[in-house]
Amino acid sequence: LKSLLKDPTLLATKAYVAGEWVDADDGTTFEVLNPARGDVICTVPDLGRAETARAIEAARVAMKEWAARTAKERAQVLRKWFELMMANQDDLGAILTAEMGKPLAEAKGEIAYGASFIEWFGEEAKRIYGETIPGHMRDKRIQVIKQPIGVVGSITPWNFPNAMITRKCGPALAVGCGFVARPAAETPLSALALAVLGERAGLPKGIFSVITSSKASDIGKEFCENHTVRKLTFTGSTEVGRILMRQAADQVMKCSMELGGNAPFIVFDDADLDAAVEGAMMSKFRNNGQTCVCANRIYVQAGVYDAFAEKLAAAVAKLNVGDGLEAGITTGPLISDKAVAKVEDHIADVVKGGGTVVTGGKRHALGGTFFEPTVVTGVTQEMKVATEETFGPVAPLFKFETEEEVIEKANATIFGLASYFYARDIGRITRVQEGLEYGIVGVNTGIISTEVAPFGGVKQSGLGREGSHHGVEDYLELKYICLSI
Ligand code: ADP
Repeated sequence: LKSLLKDPTLLATKAYVAGEWVDADDGTTFEVLNPARGDVICTVPDLGRAETARAIEAARVAMKEWAARTAKERAQVLRKWFELMMANQDDLGAILTAEMGKPLAEAKGEIAYGASFIEWFGEEAKRIYGETIPGHMRDKRIQVIKQPIGVVGSITPWNFPNAMITRKCGPALAVGCGFVARPAAETPLSALALAVLGERAGLPKGIFSVITSSKASDIGKEFCENHTVRKLTFTGSTEVGRILMRQAADQVMKCSMELGGNAPFIVFDDADLDAAVEGAMMSKFRNNGQTCVCANRIYVQAGVYDAFAEKLAAAVAKLNVGDGLEAGITTGPLISDKAVAKVEDHIADVVKGGGTVVTGGKRHALGGTFFEPTVVTGVTQEMKVATEETFGPVAPLFKFETEEEVIEKANATIFGLASYFYARDIGRITRVQEGLEYGIVGVNTGIISTEVAPFGGVKQSGLGREGSHHGVEDYLELKYICLSI
């Protein structure tokens, strides 16, 4: 990998704690694998609670001076960081592809997306306005100010090794918080590369640390039990989100939770079918189906069901599976054997229930964790894909008759993150967008992520919003000041 990089120093293999590049106290390390090749890229330090506590303390100390700066001064550092990310987009993309598997073009897209949060929040933090409220007594004046919440602990998954961190540290740092990141053990290198550039951009020592660790629950406990941490921000499964919220309850810690989804993608019979196929391809097969906003259930109205299935299968057959570092690849490997097993299980369950594999359906001839992009038809609400997140390249097509029926089916899940539908009738569009119990609705589009809009879920998909001017609020506390004159 090093030989592929224009700037090999971006491939950092030590942890970044309190502004120093360090090994674990006990000297232990763990391996970072390339999922496309199955080989070891490098090892990184396997940190524990003690090192995490040091990072938290350093963040507390660094915050005092950082928070005292003007928003513009902080924004200038973030702007520099953003520019360095963009200037090194190729290298950051290659590191990301190597450790995670998504095709290089997609990885570079993630770097630009990730960088956009640093840019956006640096700008946005200049506009954090307080209030003055007319006093409740003649001699009282009421003022409301917004202050940084304090040191933030962050736990992120492997599917967006860069952007899941920047959408959290962007707002946190912009408003003056200190930040301790614990990236997924599968993908620590993108986080470390971010730290290399952060240091070059002039982030003060200690304000941003990266804890590389295979011991996720230990780090989660340190975040939840250390009284200096005032906020936990997590992206991952609903299952782990619940554990962390329970732990955070002991010190009544504020939590932002971006959890699982089970996105419905609905195609009505008045939809532009080609546009719907294109949207479904992006929503379903981006990142090989491994995003929390990927279409998980595709509902197609009876009149266009067969035509849609045929067009989708034709589009899926054009995907090019392989090592994301090679040219022309659209679809990388899955992250792990466990992920492949889940995909296989969901397909077997569809077939057992009477569904049909139209294309794909099995492990790819390339071996490893490569899997054939798959379309299955005849899928029903009783099957596992109706309630569980597949997190892989399987497009399950459900047939429906009426608008009321599909809204009810789409909402019949504990999740409520992203949803999508294709239709033309303006009355229908209005009814359906209002009826879907989701934090995000894509209407006639399969791509909804942007730093300027509030991303987040309802129900058991989470708490809080990331991106947009709402995204800074998660990192601020309100203070009400009552002045007697
Ligand atoms: P995913 O399927 O995306 O890996 P998880 O929810 O299992 O979703 O993991 C998301 C992140 O949470 C990962 O970085 C993982 O290491 C971490 N994690 C898993 N279990 C715990 C835990 N008990 N406490 C803290 N972090 C955890």
